[in-house]
Amino acid sequence: FDQLDGQIWMNGEFIPWKDAKIHVLTHGLHYASAVFEGERAYGGRVFKLTEHNQRLHDSAEFMGFKVPYSVAELDAATIELLKRQGFSDAYVRPIAWRGSEMMGVSAQANRINVAIAIWQWGSYFDPAEKLKGIKLDLAEYRRPDPMTAPSKAKAAGLYMICTISKHAAEAKGFADAMMLDYRGRVAEATGANVFFVKDGVLHTPDPDCFLDGITRRTVIELAKRRGIEVVERAIMPEELSGFSECFLTGSAAEVTPVSEIGGKWTFTPGKISETLMNDYMKEVYPAAAVAAE
Ligand code: PMP
Repeated sequence: FDQLDGQIWMNGEFIPWKDAKIHVLTHGLHYASAVFEGERAYGGRVFKLTEHNQRLHDSAEFMGFKVPYSVAELDAATIELLKRQGFSDAYVRPIAWRGSEMMGVSAQANRINVAIAIWQWGSYFDPAEKLKGIKLDLAEYRRPDPMTAPSKAKAAGLYMICTISKHAAEAKGFADAMMLDYRGRVAEATGANVFFVKDGVLHTPDPDCFLDGITRRTVIELAKRRGIEVVERAIMPEELSGFSECFLTGSAAEVTPVSEIGGKWTFTPGKISETLMNDYMKEVYPAAAVAAE
């Protein structure tokens, strides 16, 4: 992935993609002092760009550092980079990390670096295919207690258990893994939030120890617009057999129906999943049409 053409924005400059390198003693690499975002551009416009860049700032604050570019500067850099890359449907990855000036757990003087990369990612969307649903494993690792990790930050370190869990799930033929939280409650997938349907009502876990996703909040809003009741509460795994539908939400996942969790609980993607899947795609695209004018 480091040999693509095009440009990457790094510390205020647009540089060739292949030259966007860091030193092997980078603090962010050794101690995971890095925060990042995952965004999508639809029709040449990044959906909820400012919210993502604000969250990058907030994540950095949880980690005890400040992103040295304002949200407005990051927005402008992203818009310019998207134009330079020439993509209309793309994935956007900003990241901020502590540099390599000092080595050790403490790295107060290390420069905070920031980069933005954008790569092409078509918003391929075949509703019939998506509605078959994906199968999830049940992860062994749990989302940590907020007293154990900055669980509200989109911090690189928190993805360590996500990669382990996703790899373990993939090795068993599952698409992804469902993670419980430190109390044993249903939490989220390795890169997406989760919703369930019961008797026409949406149920989703309280995001008190994991990301309250931007897509999650968007889908709650879309559901309410449709008059669908949304209940945010603690959900125990024992309850899963009582739900008819299940889907994941995330900037990358969009709305992805789930057909099975842990080989134990099954769901049939239905009306509500389909409605919200379509409403979400409508929500991300009209903004793009406006931007293109
Ligand atoms: N949880 C995790 C662990 C994630 O990586 C993501 C993707 N950023 C989400 C939830 C969903 O967040 P969003 O809708 O803001 O992309």
